[in-house]
Amino acid sequence: MLVSAKDMLNKARDGKYAVGQFNINNLEWTKAVLLAAQENNSPVILGVSEGAGKYMGGYKTIVGMVNGMLEELKITVPVALHLDHGSYEGALQVIEAGFSSVMFDGSHYSIDENIQKTKEIIKIAEEKGLSLEAEVGSIGGEEDGVVGNGEIADAAECKLIADLGVTMLAAGIGNIHGKYPENWKGLDFSALAAIKDATGDVPLVLHGGTGIPEDMIKQAISLGVAKINVNTECQLSFAEATRKYIESGKDLQGKGFDPRKLLAPGFEAIKATVKEKMELFGSINQA
Ligand SMILES: [Zn+2]
Repeated sequence: MLVSAKDMLNKARDGKYAVGQFNINNLEWTKAVLLAAQENNSPVILGVSEGAGKYMGGYKTIVGMVNGMLEELKITVPVALHLDHGSYEGALQVIEAGFSSVMFDGSHYSIDENIQKTKEIIKIAEEKGLSLEAEVGSIGGEEDGVVGNGEIADAAECKLIADLGVTMLAAGIGNIHGKYPENWKGLDFSALAAIKDATGDVPLVLHGGTGIPEDMIKQAISLGVAKINVNTECQLSFAEATRKYIESGKDLQGKGFDPRKLLAPGFEAIKATVKEKMELFGSINQA
């Protein structure tokens, strides 16, 4: 059964580790992430962007697929199904469809409007027992066609949003989506410390987990980050493994064109990447 992300994140915050959010794109992705979590006895959050939601046929399709897998693959570790960077309308739709967690990203609104809309979504999410992630200060890079520059969130604004009763808070600390450029300055840890100071107990979320050096990830966790989003890295390892399979001509040998064979190396590559991240984040055996 899907669970809200609240308990797993509070536990992670107290235990000084982070739970990974791995974004899913299709059945193979979902199965790979769920099996990796089960095999490593780790809690996990499945992230779905609005674009991926459309791609997979809609939110109800995803809820049906995930719930089916939890039962039939006998997944017993805590799993949350979470909307990533949701719009106001998207948040309402996933709550209706049966997700167990939702991010409302109002970072592109004025702080007053962000507060107002976040408040409304919190009320509805709470009634249905979902966890809620809010965002202050847009995360740089590109996600689903939405481009932003690496911003540093204002600690006072973070406090205003955290005090509304959000389950977790994403705040920009120089992190960006996608691959990091060579001239990236790194995470701003003094900004993170100030945000932690201002927001108290709320678990913090680090977006753009692909390509952040390991020591920075560990320092971020020690400063209150309890959820780390990974998306691009699984895409890169899936693509690399699939490319290898085709470039070595395996799809032309025997029944190598069978999708169950063609997609198998990519599936295994996602599982390996997820395991690697769970090790780094410290969530193994924390289910
Ligand atoms: Zn993000």
